[in-house]
Amino acid sequence: MSFIASIGYFFFGVAIAVLVPRFPFLLMTRTKGFNTHFPPHPEAIPLSPYLTQRVLHMRMFYWLSLVVVVLPLGLGIASIRWGNAAFGFGLWVSSGWFVLNRLQYFVGGQPPPWTKEMAVELQILADEAERSSLCCNWASPHWGVTGIYCANCNKLLSNMARPDLGRKRQGRWPMGFLRLLFSDGYPMLTFASQDGHSEEE
Ligand SMILES: [Zn+2]
Repeated sequence: MSFIASIGYFFFGVAIAVLVPRFPFLLMTRTKGFNTHFPPHPEAIPLSPYLTQRVLHMRMFYWLSLVVVVLPLGLGIASIRWGNAAFGFGLWVSSGWFVLNRLQYFVGGQPPPWTKEMAVELQILADEAERSSLCCNWASPHWGVTGIYCANCNKLLSNMARPDLGRKRQGRWPMGFLRLLFSDGYPMLTFASQDGHSEEE
C-alpha cells in the first residue's frame, strides 16, 4: 500500500470515529415528530417542561456517546490486527481523543453543553413565571441564543447561553450539520450577539 493511500485510510478512520460516537446527539431528535413542542430553529424557545426534558435528553445523548465510542474502538482493534492498519490507527486516534475529551470533565475540564443544573435552572424560572413573581404580570420566559429573557417585558432573566437543543437546523444541508459537528452542541456565541438577545446564530 502506498504512503498516500495509507494517509487516506488514516483520515477516513479519523472521520468515521468523529461521526459515530456523535450519532445520538446529531440524529436522534432531529426529525420533525420530536420537535412539535418547540418553535423551529433558531427561534427562542419558551420555557416549559418539554424544554427541561429536552435538556436532560441531550445530556443523556452526550454521555451515551461514551458507550457508542466502543464501536469505532473495537473496529479499530480489529482493523489493526486483521485489516487495514492505517484505517484502524485513524479510528483509534480519533476515538481515543474523543474519550479523553469527554473524561476531562471529571478532572475539572469544561462541563458538557447540557447539565442537570441547567435543567434545574430552567425549571425554576418556568415555575417562577407561572407564579408571576419573576419580572412582570405576564412573564413569558424564552431561551434565546445568548440567554433567557421575557418575551413580554424584554427583561434578561438569565445569561445562560443556549446550547444546541436537538432541533432540525434550517438552511442548506451540509452547513448546519458541519456547524453542529464543530460546535459539538456548545452554544454558538457570536461577537455580534453580545448586546442583549439578538437571534443571530
Ligand atoms: Zn416580563
